[in-house]
Amino acid sequence: MAEKKLPFTKAKLETIIQSYPTPFHIYDEQAIRENARNLLAAFSWAPGFKEYFAVKATPNPHILKILKEEGIGADCSSLAELILSEQAGIVGENIIFSSNDTPAEEYQAAKNLGAIINLDDISHIDYLEKHVGIPEIISFRYNPGPLLQGGNDIIGYPEDAKYGLTRGQIIEAYKIMQGKGVKRFALHTMVISNELNPDSFVGTAVMMFDLVLEIYQTLGIRIEMIDLGGGIGIPYKPEQQAVDLDRVSQGVRKAYEEKIVANGLHPLKITMECGRMITGPYGYLVSTVLHKKEIYKNYVGLDSCMANLMRPALYGSYHHMTVMGKETLPLDHVYDVTGSLCENNDKFAIDRSLPQIDIGDVIVMHDAGAHGHAMGFNYNGKLRSAELLLQSDGNAIMIRRAETLADYFATLNFEKCELTLAAATKK
Ligand SMILES: *Cc1c(COP(=O)(O)O)cnc(C)c1O
Repeated sequence: MAEKKLPFTKAKLETIIQSYPTPFHIYDEQAIRENARNLLAAFSWAPGFKEYFAVKATPNPHILKILKEEGIGADCSSLAELILSEQAGIVGENIIFSSNDTPAEEYQAAKNLGAIINLDDISHIDYLEKHVGIPEIISFRYNPGPLLQGGNDIIGYPEDAKYGLTRGQIIEAYKIMQGKGVKRFALHTMVISNELNPDSFVGTAVMMFDLVLEIYQTLGIRIEMIDLGGGIGIPYKPEQQAVDLDRVSQGVRKAYEEKIVANGLHPLKITMECGRMITGPYGYLVSTVLHKKEIYKNYVGLDSCMANLMRPALYGSYHHMTVMGKETLPLDHVYDVTGSLCENNDKFAIDRSLPQIDIGDVIVMHDAGAHGHAMGFNYNGKLRSAELLLQSDGNAIMIRRAETLADYFATLNFEKCELTLAAATKK
């Protein structure tokens, strides 16, 4: 069971709302720090264990800086993410650049920062060499394709994914790089997403250790680091269970001893690039109820919409909701909880049992800290909200302001929308 707690009381949240009107995202600094420490502690046995936070999950340099202080690096896949990491002081091999379909200028920026470049295709070797040159250390992303032993329920269906090099290509790719004089090598994969079964991660590690051994036996190359990717899930639903990191760690350790230590390949650095499990449970979307309507179903309309949290509309995902001040009331009403887009998918919940809702109630959506604000978009001219940080000392600060209509109009090559704006909203 995952307990759905909040890091603030109703009274505390009300004072925050006085300074920062809803909707907003708010992140719990202390919980993020403790969670980061737990992950690193679980793998403290592993030589040089490193977590590269997937920046796309929560691309805010304030968050990256907190993670950096906890010893976490950055997994970037775009120019913007590289710059955000640099701004937060994460540079050099504390960055892995795990992009795909990558333009030359992004490879250049990654190389300039000294990031570990993780190539997504064998053809990118020539592209990289031509545009930016061959770096000192190189990584390749492995796509195992249709898995033998019917392991698909554990690792998914990699053959349907656009990422990575095939089994045949991966050996060839290291050989080519060896021929170009490269001496330092890493190996990457990312085959699972939002997975709660600890054995999946052990399965990935076993697959990677086997490949490290095969590369060594075939080419004499000693891979110095493997990256198991992200994909550790979080218990969005109260009845789900968080991944037992100690169990993952013990399983990986056993395989490490059997396959890496036993074959004389110790030390091999184990790394991950989780996003969701690092920040997901520690961010909340806070909204106010604007309207209620009763037609064929009962609706509660919020002041937020898909622009603020797309996951329910995009994937049908569950996000737990707390109605502030009504935590102990019976869940004896059923509502669809909606946003304001002219898009019928714009629902945060369908047929959700909640206490009786009134206009003005504050609803907190849980587990919005990763792939939440970051996915926002401007359809219907809707604006992305502010991001707040509930600091370890209990103060809430704004770490990103809300977008304004001036931001929305800024890219238009048309006269003075901003002036019209003042007139449009005049009472
Ligand atoms: C999205 C992504 C991640 C992070 O995934 P989570 O599910 O947030 O852990 C890590 N690596 C790569 C290459 C990704 O695309």
